[in-house]
Amino acid sequence: MRAEIISVGTELLLGQIVDTNAVYLSQLLPQFGIDLHYRITVGDNAARLTEALKTALSRADLVFTIGGLGPTEDDLTKETVAQLVGDEMFLDEELASKLQAFFEARGVEMPESNLKQAMVPRRGRSFPNPLGTAPGAAFETDDGKAIIVLPGPPKEFKALVDQCVVPYLRERVGNASNVIRSRVLRLTGIGESSVEDAIKHLISSTNPTVAPLASPGEVRLRITAKAPTPAEAEAMIDEMDSKIVSILGHCVFGRDDETLERVVVESLIARKLTLAVAESCTGGLVASRITDVPGCSAIFLAGVVSYSNEAKKELLGVPDDLLRAHGAVSEPVARAMAEGIRRVTGADIGVSTTGIAGPTGATETKPVGLVFTALAADSGTVVRRHQFAGDRTDIKLRASQAALDMVRMSLIAQQ
Ligand code: AMP
Ligand code: MG
Repeated sequence: MRAEIISVGTELLLGQIVDTNAVYLSQLLPQFGIDLHYRITVGDNAARLTEALKTALSRADLVFTIGGLGPTEDDLTKETVAQLVGDEMFLDEELASKLQAFFEARGVEMPESNLKQAMVPRRGRSFPNPLGTAPGAAFETDDGKAIIVLPGPPKEFKALVDQCVVPYLRERVGNASNVIRSRVLRLTGIGESSVEDAIKHLISSTNPTVAPLASPGEVRLRITAKAPTPAEAEAMIDEMDSKIVSILGHCVFGRDDETLERVVVESLIARKLTLAVAESCTGGLVASRITDVPGCSAIFLAGVVSYSNEAKKELLGVPDDLLRAHGAVSEPVARAMAEGIRRVTGADIGVSTTGIAGPTGATETKPVGLVFTALAADSGTVVRRHQFAGDRTDIKLRASQAALDMVRMSLIAQQ
């Protein structure tokens, strides 16, 4: 079964509000095995809404509209839908008196214009709104399709979806249909094009599908499977997940909402190892990300933002001659920072970052985006040199990602 969502409201087109309702519905439909192929936004205009509805009905079995159910002139969704499908709505007396009571309970007289909210489809059904005055409705077309109209205010929308649309879909779609399940594999330490090259033959798969999505320092692979039961869909996803891991190995750090910092903290807790960080260009971002993880106090001892050369010398014991000879952004200084924070705090692992986040500060030999990350442990000190792209925020994020990933990789190496 195919669905389409039409969000109605000029405020959406102007970018004044974000379409959170469509997101909510988009996340629900796969659970019923319903394919959502289009999401459309249209302003408060009957002619354009009619056009969008006609297009949607030409390619979908279920059309959802969101918004435009209020009492005012520009709220015209229900009337437009009724006209298009040729349904003469009627005034539901019971609903009208409920509306009356809704206003009386608030001590105000019901404006005449609100009565139109008690108009319901002759064919199809009305969905009561537990939190507001605008009920939703399902209109039926002559050829067995449905247009489900839902109110815009997010709380009302969500209540109606949960209480009315879910049972309606269950009834309409039944249990025999397919379910759609997704899992996101999260990768770091590898670029999007390298990921694509490595798993090109898997990206062309149609069920499950594999779709890459890149952000600074991370590539995500969304695996989506369609099957008669959730268990079968999960099994298909498991198989694809294993294939990807067998190719990309340790670049896969987590799944779904598993963040890199969470993986790092949990691995440290499991091994009873402590961590301290010395940061320059990341300005505390590494420490901030670690402390985003509940329970990190078991393993995180300290973070120092040693931004100036003086701080590097005084707080971490970085030798003055190293700074003079190589500059703060250098392999030896990154090394001395990681070893310094480890010595000062007594942590099992010391990590450091030093780099040029830009847009200023570059020299002929040290371009913007040059970052060194170092990790000091019992087994010795490792330093990595990176050349990151992007603006200041991107570079800081990528550097923090690289530092965290050094910890993760060092723990994997110890296994
Ligand atoms: P309406 O039903 O069009 O009168 O919308 C009522 C209010 O709901 C609007 O002022 C918006 O703040 C909100 N709203 C409408 N459509 C959406 C949507 N698709 N996502 C989130 N909020 C919405
Ligand atoms: Mg509106």
